[in-house]
Amino acid sequence: MQRARRVVLGLGSNLGDRAGNLALAVTHLGAERGIVVLARSPIYVTPPAGGPPQGDYLNAAALLSTALPAREILTRTLAIEHALGRVRPDPVRWGPRTIDLDLLWIEGEVIDEPGLTVPHPRLGERAFALRPLLDVAPDAVDPRTGERFADLPAARAPLVRAGGT
Ligand code: ATP
Ligand code: CA
Ligand code: CA
Repeated sequence: MQRARRVVLGLGSNLGDRAGNLALAVTHLGAERGIVVLARSPIYVTPPAGGPPQGDYLNAAALLSTALPAREILTRTLAIEHALGRVRPDPVRWGPRTIDLDLLWIEGEVIDEPGLTVPHPRLGERAFALRPLLDVAPDAVDPRTGERFADLPAARAPLVRAGGT
């Protein structure tokens, strides 16, 4: 069994009770054996990036401490997505969804396998993923390059905070 390390999940929702979906996802994560939720970021309102025309997303990140292997974290997040009404396979790629949980970063780990790439392959170019990640892990480093995520241009892109968060 490996030691617990920091893991950041990206959360997104643009269907149904979006804020409720994000909150429920965090509740589910905290109820998992072997996962401790250390922090959650503010919530941001972001336009859809790619895919068909659809409503704005609410995006956030959750900082976890867990010793679970990456594959096991992915399996559990997919189960939580299912519990929150995510339909798979998605009817359309990058279409609207009640919940999307992406494994953005695992401290010190690089994974490149079928069905699992960590850090998330599009993290560095997506302000809606990068900014919440930096809210909960400001010192996060890309384990492939040693570069601080905070130094990427997307980290400085303007993002709109959801009201009251
Ligand atoms: P994007 O990956 O561009 O954010 P998406 O979140 O809509 O798009 P999904 O349909 O939710 O993509 O996921 C497709 C597959 O991506 C998942 O079944 C999973 O196996 C795979 N995947 C690979 N790397 C990751 C990761 N780091 N986090 C979550 N899923 C991943
Ligand atoms: Ca995603
Ligand atoms: Ca996903």
